[in-house]
Amino acid sequence: MTRRLSLSVRLLAITGVLLCACRRGGEAPASSAAPPAAPSILLVTLDTTRADAIGPEARGIETPAFDALARRGLRFRQAYATVPETLPSHSSMMTGLYPAGHGLHENGRFLAPAVPVVAERLRDAGYRTAAFVSSFALARRFGLARGFEVYDDEPEAGRAERSAHETTARALAELRAKAQRPLFLWVHYYDPHAPYAPPAPFAARYAKAPYLGEVAAMDEQLGILVAEFERSAGPAAVLVVGDHGEGLGEHGESRHGDLLYQGTMHVPLLLAGPGVAAGVVEIPVSTRHVFHTILDFAGFGATDSLRQPQAEVVLGEAMKPFLEYGWQPQVMAVEGRIKAIQAGRMEAYDVVADPGETRDLARSSEPPRPLRTALRDYPAPAPAAAGAPPALDEEARRKLASLGYVGGGAAPVLRKDAPRPADMTRLFDVLERASDLFVREEYARAIPLLEQIRAQDPYNLDAVLRLATAHSALGHEARAEQAFASAAEIAPGSPDVRAYRALHDARGKDWAQAAPRLEQVIAESPERVPALEALARIRERQGRPGDAADLWQRVYALRPATAAESVRLGELAMSAGRTPLAIESFERARAAQGTAFTHDLELGVLYLDARRLTEARDALDRVPASHPAYAMALFKRAQASVLLRESDQAERIAAARRRADAVTRPLIERERLFAGR
Ligand SMILES: [Zn+2]
Repeated sequence: MTRRLSLSVRLLAITGVLLCACRRGGEAPASSAAPPAAPSILLVTLDTTRADAIGPEARGIETPAFDALARRGLRFRQAYATVPETLPSHSSMMTGLYPAGHGLHENGRFLAPAVPVVAERLRDAGYRTAAFVSSFALARRFGLARGFEVYDDEPEAGRAERSAHETTARALAELRAKAQRPLFLWVHYYDPHAPYAPPAPFAARYAKAPYLGEVAAMDEQLGILVAEFERSAGPAAVLVVGDHGEGLGEHGESRHGDLLYQGTMHVPLLLAGPGVAAGVVEIPVSTRHVFHTILDFAGFGATDSLRQPQAEVVLGEAMKPFLEYGWQPQVMAVEGRIKAIQAGRMEAYDVVADPGETRDLARSSEPPRPLRTALRDYPAPAPAAAGAPPALDEEARRKLASLGYVGGGAAPVLRKDAPRPADMTRLFDVLERASDLFVREEYARAIPLLEQIRAQDPYNLDAVLRLATAHSALGHEARAEQAFASAAEIAPGSPDVRAYRALHDARGKDWAQAAPRLEQVIAESPERVPALEALARIRERQGRPGDAADLWQRVYALRPATAAESVRLGELAMSAGRTPLAIESFERARAAQGTAFTHDLELGVLYLDARRLTEARDALDRVPASHPAYAMALFKRAQASVLLRESDQAERIAAARRRADAVTRPLIERERLFAGR
């Protein structure tokens, strides 16, 4: 009875916890001094690291740094990620919540500002806070930077990840910047993520197991980081935890994110530091308690801390196949040594005796009731709530794709025939390759793969919409029409189908007729960037620069504008007579382009129009004599000179007259500022 009560309280907490955590977060500033003797805290998250690939029990690999920490710390033999994907898993560690609480079930989404994060609590309590992350999957834009005074998420230009070696060097530089306050430092290593290419000497040492070579190389950096942290920070708490593992072919999964088996859900976890006796914990725990443990180390109280681990039903989910392809939602629950998975049907394994999950106990007997109840009550994301695709720009999509993460464009549809992801493993690889090619706009190569997916999974809305879009982009009118028709059959009334259909129409010869459809799509989902972009282009073609400028402004509020796009917006605003917007847009482009900026003449004209005379003068002075409209620049510069009462205004007017062309000659003749000179 007690157990069931505490379970239902916990399940309530999954959904209700947001409210109470908010309240606690609201109280934090009141206790703005750091608790007495608050130790510095180091959190190291190991991406894509299997529990059996690191530590004293790992086989085929040596990880001396992790082992040394394990000898003096508390090591958890059954720690579980909440989601086998980077961003949602880290979001659980930073918030203490399961995905239903923090709202992120996939990469490429955004952690809502209302959800309290541990870094804010520590910063408000007087901690210095710094984070160094190694993958674009955790970039600032996804919301985990909140509360960190330093958030270093920048690999070299054009790359989506960086090595543990590079990240460690940057974190150590931060450590050397001594401060009186205790430090909360989060370092995220990404090396074991595919592709597996360990550096020397690990490449040679692990030539037959490059994945393990990556883990070993990362372990070396972990040792350097921990030693330096403890040397400079004094008595310190250290937490090391995996965000998820890697399938390595088990159960048909080579990477992670699509299934819930041990290879990807069972992760390394250990604590060391003040008040932590060396030992090994056998009971299953969730990595979401990293949040509570950090608060405990910082002196906020021991509730749910892993320093005193409590037995509970540990939960996890893998919703990507549901959200992307409409397959069965997948949830798991672990208690003691039994793990149950609900995905279309129930499976159960004794993960201690059978870590490979080869003997499904649910075939002969029902899993224990607490597990069944937990799985039944687990709040799966509602398709409606999953909503419109995130406002990612193409660059962000390409970066996520290069890491093997590609969010689909369509909201999930509840399918009557929804297959079990475990039965669809033959499609994992082709889905990933098709997504990658689609995002790179290599449509001709994506189409055969999308056809292959459709043949084996005919009700996969995302694949069918992508197929339709690929044909549309290549001008295959009839095949695009046919694919749109099957999409409409799969999901009648789906706003996604309407949106993609309208985008298709906007590409064709009857593009003007797409406008009302796009307007309707935007009215339904105001943040649908591709629809806003398509309508803006139509308004440009219709000669409505003001309307186009309004739409582009909405787009750039959702994603950053490139320099070329800022120039284009400046030109549109200029032809719509919207001087302040035009100035702002050109200046943004100038800041981004530096000496490559070629619109100083436009800026000078706009500043003159706005009577911002010194800025007009400076802009016109930057126009090179080689500019095709240099005569205009001289004319405008002479106007500015007169208005500014410069001493050389007569010479400026003379120069404008001397170099006048067919356009400026009549303007100069009529210019009253020049009269009588
Ligand atoms: Zn990850």
